[in-house]
Amino acid sequence: MEQGLVETMLTILNTSNTSGTAGNDNPDDKKSAYELIKFFDEMPGGFFIYRADEEEKILYVNNAVLRIFGCSDRNEFNKLTGGTFKGLVYTDDLQAVEDSIAEQIKNSIYDFDYVEYRILCKDGAIRWIEDYGHYIKSKSAGGVFYVFIGDATEKRRAGIVERKNMLRQVKKSRDRLSAVIKEYDKELSLMNREHLRRLEVIEGLGANYESILYVELNKNSLVPYRQSERSMCLFEKSNEPSVFSDCIKRYIDKWVYPEEREQMRRQMSAEYICFRLTSEKAYSVNYRILDEDSIQYLQMRVVNVSPDGSAAQAVIGFRRIDEEILRETEHRDMLESMLKKAQKASEAKNTFISNMSHDMRTPLNAIFGFAELAKRHSDGNAKVIEYMDRIEESGRELLDLIDKVLELSWAESAQMGLNESRCVVSDIVAEVYKTMLPYSSKNNILWTVNCPPQADRCVYADREKLKHLLTHLADNAVKYTLNGGKAELSVEVSEIGGSFAEYKFIVKDNGIGISKESIGHIFEPFERERNTTSSGISGAGLGLTIAAAIVDLMGGTIATESELGKGSTFTVTLKLKKADEIRAEKAESENSMAKLLESRILIVEDNEVNLEIESEILSGLGFDVDTAENGAEAVEKIRNSDHGEYAVILMDIQMPVMDGRQAARQIRQLADPQLAQIPIIALSANALEHDRQLSAESGMNAHLGKPIDVPLLLETMEKVI
Ligand code: ADP
Repeated sequence: MEQGLVETMLTILNTSNTSGTAGNDNPDDKKSAYELIKFFDEMPGGFFIYRADEEEKILYVNNAVLRIFGCSDRNEFNKLTGGTFKGLVYTDDLQAVEDSIAEQIKNSIYDFDYVEYRILCKDGAIRWIEDYGHYIKSKSAGGVFYVFIGDATEKRRAGIVERKNMLRQVKKSRDRLSAVIKEYDKELSLMNREHLRRLEVIEGLGANYESILYVELNKNSLVPYRQSERSMCLFEKSNEPSVFSDCIKRYIDKWVYPEEREQMRRQMSAEYICFRLTSEKAYSVNYRILDEDSIQYLQMRVVNVSPDGSAAQAVIGFRRIDEEILRETEHRDMLESMLKKAQKASEAKNTFISNMSHDMRTPLNAIFGFAELAKRHSDGNAKVIEYMDRIEESGRELLDLIDKVLELSWAESAQMGLNESRCVVSDIVAEVYKTMLPYSSKNNILWTVNCPPQADRCVYADREKLKHLLTHLADNAVKYTLNGGKAELSVEVSEIGGSFAEYKFIVKDNGIGISKESIGHIFEPFERERNTTSSGISGAGLGLTIAAAIVDLMGGTIATESELGKGSTFTVTLKLKKADEIRAEKAESENSMAKLLESRILIVEDNEVNLEIESEILSGLGFDVDTAENGAEAVEKIRNSDHGEYAVILMDIQMPVMDGRQAARQIRQLADPQLAQIPIIALSANALEHDRQLSAESGMNAHLGKPIDVPLLLETMEKVI
């Protein structure tokens, strides 16, 4: 705005405000000034001028200002505002507005200012104003402010809403963020707790370990987690990696017991640990250390902690195990002494059983012998023969019981071993067949055996035990089959490659069968489905226990199938080693009996009754019998005999002066080789396998138990001569 025009306008304004007379006489200026005022009045935006003095009197307001304040004319406006700038600004904002204007004008080269403030309208409403001021020095009115104002209420309201929205957004984001932070904090605290828990677990589990090391085997580095006083100076500070091999070397050289150092150097090397950890998750090594001249026992426990299944990282713990070693030693000593006691008790039991069996066999020998003799001298008296048969039958049952108790006690003493030799399965089966034949025919049972050609092959087996085993099963099959029934022993052979063949021995009957409840117990000692009284079948419940013990010893299996009233099948499966040659045909010994009958038999026996019985029986069979009362007498008789005078010696074992084995040894050492080779058969009430072995070792050809089984004796005599 041109300065001159403004002056005129101000003069006009001043005049109109005071005297109503314009001070400027220039009519053009006046006109222009009026037009200017008119222009201001018609402007859409507010415009006013006030004096820049203490009072701040408003010199001019245009119509737009009146509209903003809701005043219909200037009088109303003056009434509302007092006609001053001070009165125009809302009281609460005034001070800040004036300070801001003064500050802006002071710093502005163009004397401009901009302020925002509230005003109080006529209707009592508060509105926001934007104020663009321009300070001007006027000649007529002094310093004045030209002020352009606009109603900023809506803009401000919109701004507030926008800010509010923004704030809401910010708040929302902040809430979201704080929720995330909260969640994160929660997780962190869980992780911390878990971490602490793990540390506690490690502490707990590692409580016994005086040192714990974390080792990176692939990097040859270690970090001590816990250290003992012993390792402190060697493994450097906790949580700092050191060179594994160096630390271990220092440790071994300083602490490990000198004799074990070399071994520990190997076992504590990274290569060795890696090697062990590739096949094991963890392992321990016990060793000794020397601490101030005292030996301590330590254990190194190595655990693979590699996350990828390799053996790159390990945790190694060291702990004292002196107490454990002490306990272990005590425990071992205790077990050893218990074992010794148990062995002693078992030996005592075996000795007792074997003595008892010996002592029972001796009178039984007399019973059988005299029964046999009584029958021979019965002059055909049927009653006497029948009674004698009954006596023999009962005696045999008693003998069977003695045999089984003895055999079981022997098996339980764990002294039973295998005595393998070349033998033919079909021969053994034939022997079992023969043994069972008298019983089966007596009870009218069809008893058969069935062997394939492969069973004629030579195998390595414990002949006697296999025969025993099959006899026990065959005995049951015949015993538990009713009159007119069937029992069969069959053999199946299958090749399994290599030098072994699989033999199945199947003992099948159509007898009384076994109930489901009993079948699980029949292999236990003294277990019988029905006792002798209720079944009428005698037995001790030991046959299957012994059979199972033999199968076990031979490394085989035994299976049972049975149905009450229908019969039973026992299947024994054994792997037997094949011997290369096919069975040699049995040498026929037709001449042997003739030879026996031509020569003499020397019976060596101290027990008078036995001597009488044995002599009587053999003489009764047509043999020429000579006797000796002890071993020494027998040796002398043989030494002084002619070649072929004695065909065989039947030697008792326990005798005064010289026992049977010693006598056998001396005979084998006789200078005359022919006399030294005379066959000797031990006849003893000691019927254990161990006794058989001792007889064989002393040079005897066979060992038979007492009481004498006459057919078996004859068969054996035929075999040995
Ligand atoms: P024992 O025949 O002396 O009683 P074992 O140990 O040989 O003793 O047999 C135990 C029990 O198993 C017998 O009492 C019998 O009840 C049952 N048992 C064994 N074999 C047979 C079989 N072939 N048929 C029926 N029952 C059998």
